[in-house]
Amino acid sequence: MDLKDALKIIGAGDDETFELMLKANQIKQKHKGNKIKLCAIVNAKSGKCSENCSFCAQSAHHQTNMPSYPLLSSKEIIKAAKAAEKNMGATCFSVVTSGKATKTKAELQTIGASLEIICRETKLNRCVSIGTLTKPELLELKAKGLKRLHHNLETAKSFFDQVCTTHTYEERLATIKAAKEIGLEVCSGGIFGLGESLEQRIELAFTLKELNVESVPINILNPIPGTPAAATYRPMRPLEVLRLIATYRFILPTADFGIFGGREKALGSLQPLMFLAGANVTLVGDYLTTKGQAPEKDLQMIKDLGLEIDNETCPDRIGAVSKMRGNREVHSQVFEH
Ligand code: SF4
Repeated sequence: MDLKDALKIIGAGDDETFELMLKANQIKQKHKGNKIKLCAIVNAKSGKCSENCSFCAQSAHHQTNMPSYPLLSSKEIIKAAKAAEKNMGATCFSVVTSGKATKTKAELQTIGASLEIICRETKLNRCVSIGTLTKPELLELKAKGLKRLHHNLETAKSFFDQVCTTHTYEERLATIKAAKEIGLEVCSGGIFGLGESLEQRIELAFTLKELNVESVPINILNPIPGTPAAATYRPMRPLEVLRLIATYRFILPTADFGIFGGREKALGSLQPLMFLAGANVTLVGDYLTTKGQAPEKDLQMIKDLGLEIDNETCPDRIGAVSKMRGNREVHSQVFEH
């Protein structure tokens, strides 16, 4: 699929949308089958971010009512992971912190220690979304059981300076490339409805394709009062969102992707159709700064569509491998693929 074809799909009329969805769904069926993956997150450190991303309630540049708190303890992070696995059916769990980077060594150690125990005591795939990371930091976390890095590009390069001016697109790309270089899976996507053009929505998809990311979270702006993005908010219509999903499936046929934040508000009564437009992943439970619908409702929606929850769990757990080899010292090597 080239840029011209992608533009035709994303810019199609409402009356063509269901036909496009049908084709996108066929691509999804071919590569992903009937299964839906569920991810969950914990907002492990909230607010007071030095960056000025226009949509973000956690930025210290904007006046929002977002609560701020320091990094949760390892015990709290692990408790959230276990609840996500037991109560929500999640198979992937991400530790998310506000801020451009995880600043202190102690914070990185707390996150690493949490990953190690999540790895040993659950079957979850471990992910972090903790801002800019260097290769040595990523290696340190990988040795503790990290499988996947989540680091959104947020939007197209050509639109990024309209969204954030306190750091560059290149910085975001560098973290993703470093993760790829050491063999981590990468989950990277963006947020839509910020005023970007259709071309820019596609530009982001092609950048993600070039980076060969494994998973693509699509977020639709849920405007938070006090943020600049809320002041210029123009809601995307549900059919526009479905065309966006279908277009991403055409461009990224083998990637995991789905609508994460904002799906209830953006899709309204058409929400179940996201899984028939090409999505094969979603986030269960609460989002970072807004409430999600009850997990039971998500599970019912998937069942009603005749789809199945993907229960595939992470095969390379530290505890499992360690037990097998009967040697505690192999822990740091298990993730060097
Ligand atoms: S999106 Fe991340 S980097 Fe940007 S303001 Fe929010 S917490 Fe900070």
